[in-house]
Amino acid sequence: MKVQQVTRVLNEIQSRRILGKYQLNQNKYLFAKNIETCIEVTNQLKYPLVMKVVSDKIVHKSDFGGVQIGLNNLEDVKNAYNIIIRNALLKNVKEDEIDGVSIQEMENGLEEILIGVKKDPVFGPVILVGLGGVLVELMKDVSLGICPLDDDDIYKMLKKLKGYPLLNGYRGKKQADIAALVETVKKVQELVLNEPDILEMDLNPVMVKEQGKGCMIVDARIVMKN
Ligand code: ADP
Ligand code: MG
Repeated sequence: MKVQQVTRVLNEIQSRRILGKYQLNQNKYLFAKNIETCIEVTNQLKYPLVMKVVSDKIVHKSDFGGVQIGLNNLEDVKNAYNIIIRNALLKNVKEDEIDGVSIQEMENGLEEILIGVKKDPVFGPVILVGLGGVLVELMKDVSLGICPLDDDDIYKMLKKLKGYPLLNGYRGKKQADIAALVETVKKVQELVLNEPDILEMDLNPVMVKEQGKGCMIVDARIVMKN
């Protein structure tokens, strides 16, 4: 008999709450269930802003036109909200299946990095790092490590990436904060070792800034055992 594992995908807001428990660095975000709340909370955030759809029916938000970046004022915020809801409805997501939106500060980094976790039935938690965004899918430039990993293991994983020079001052590019990235991977490891119900985790992207300026998680997706 095939044993079927029932899983539950947490949305961005639910996933971020777990990251918060482990002091992982994330950009400032708020959840808004409607446009009125959205407008209200903008005064707690610094422009430019980013808005994203929150719905259990939508896992890859940008595929649905569910991510609007570079919002500079209230007018942009209202427009973004309407566009996001319209895009979701166009993709046959029903109105009551949209929980709301996440509204957050826009970040920039030298590079977008992916930090992923998969629980392997034999090896246990496996951590994956890669150059994030579209590049991950296009270049398949990722590097894997089986937990437990120490600082040295994590540095080695990063150095194995073909794109590593992009973090390390390639052709006059600024040097990225690799130490902060290593620190983030260590906290991710602590999180998965402490949370046995997590089966999978995707932090993509993590914005890595120039040396001394740290890195910032701007999207998260966690898959839990049900
Ligand atoms: P998804 O992975 O579900 O499509 P993301 O939240 O990762 O949605 O957003 C898609 C892309 O939008 C990211 O890869 C990143 O380039 C950009 N982005 C998302 N959030 C921010 C942010 N807070 N600041 C800057 N860029 C962002
Ligand atoms: Mg993402």
